[in-house]
Amino acid sequence: MKTWIPDARNFAYLTWKQVDALPRESTLLVLPTAAIEQHGQHQPLATDTLINNLLLGKALVLLPADLPIYALPPICYGKSNEHLGFPGTLSVRAETFMAVVRDLGASIASAGFSKLVLYNTHGGNTSLVDVMARDLRAEFGLRTFSLFGSPGATFAGLSSQERAYGFHAGEIETAYLLHSTPALVHPEEFTANYIASLEKPEPIKPEGSSANFAWLTGDISGSGVLGDPYRATAENGEKWSNEAAAGIAELLVAMYHFEPRHEI
Ligand SMILES: [Zn+2]
Repeated sequence: MKTWIPDARNFAYLTWKQVDALPRESTLLVLPTAAIEQHGQHQPLATDTLINNLLLGKALVLLPADLPIYALPPICYGKSNEHLGFPGTLSVRAETFMAVVRDLGASIASAGFSKLVLYNTHGGNTSLVDVMARDLRAEFGLRTFSLFGSPGATFAGLSSQERAYGFHAGEIETAYLLHSTPALVHPEEFTANYIASLEKPEPIKPEGSSANFAWLTGDISGSGVLGDPYRATAENGEKWSNEAAAGIAELLVAMYHFEPRHEI
């Protein structure tokens, strides 16, 4: 898989002796979680994994050189059962995903490290990442953080409809790939489709509301797209990914320095 992670920040490029020399208490390890799943007819299966790597790689470049912060190899396979039925989607069950995160947390804790970030860029993993962040804290005493998506990105220029319901393979994801891996995007295959409309508000929403309905992509989209890629540009992809990287870098530094307060 293509990577934007700087070699000096790539945990898997270290030898065990180099790992042994890292400061155990302060080193911050980042475990990316993403997906291999259909992203419409115009984007590759690895879209979420590529975006995760792009944003994290750009963020790591911005960090002060003396901070021991490393990217672990990603968990590329996620819980993607909403996209099953579209050929190429490779999904793992919630139990499998959580077991892999738990076992990696156990390995990290057994090596004496104490700080771990779960950085997720696939919506289907979000609730599992939250569960596992707490479980790793409780079971292994790891100081665990969860980090999602593109913090800090303004997405200036995005329509309010796309901002609300551009969930998947829409303008943002397409812009990121037009900027970073344009050869993998097929504009002649663009299609637009929304799961809900701002103009026709419904009491039961697809996500992020007090009352949500569980959705499968195949219920609502023949192409697999939940959003509108037509207005995506490489320029916006570059701008938004740089904003996101700055936001991620700032949060990683804050996580590195984080000390929970017992009393407020
Ligand atoms: Zn995606």
